[in-house]
Amino acid sequence: MFQDKTIVCKDCGQEFTFTANEQEFFAEKGFTNEPQRCKPCRDARKGASNNRQGGERQMFDAVCASCGRSCKVPFQPRTDRPVYCSDCFRK
Ligand SMILES: [Zn+2]
Ligand SMILES: [Zn+2]
Repeated sequence: MFQDKTIVCKDCGQEFTFTANEQEFFAEKGFTNEPQRCKPCRDARKGASNNRQGGERQMFDAVCASCGRSCKVPFQPRTDRPVYCSDCFRK
C-alpha cells in the first residue's frame, strides 16, 4: 500500500527516497507529516541540537542546608548529603 517516494530535501536540495518501509513506520507512529530533509541533514540537525543541550548543564532544584534558600545545583541532590547554595558553598 506504500510506494517509495522521492522528496526534495529542504536543507540541501537533494532528492532522497522516502521508502515504503519508512512510510509504513511513519503511519504506524501516527505521523502525518512527511520528512522534509534527507537523512544526512536530519542527522546533522539532531547532532546540532544535542550539542546545544550538552553545552548547558542541567540544573536541579535543591534547598540550601545552611541558609534554607532554594537554589539550583548542577548535580542531582542526594538526601544523605547537604546541599549548599553558591553563596554558602563559598564560605
Ligand atoms: Zn539534505
Ligand atoms: Zn545557602
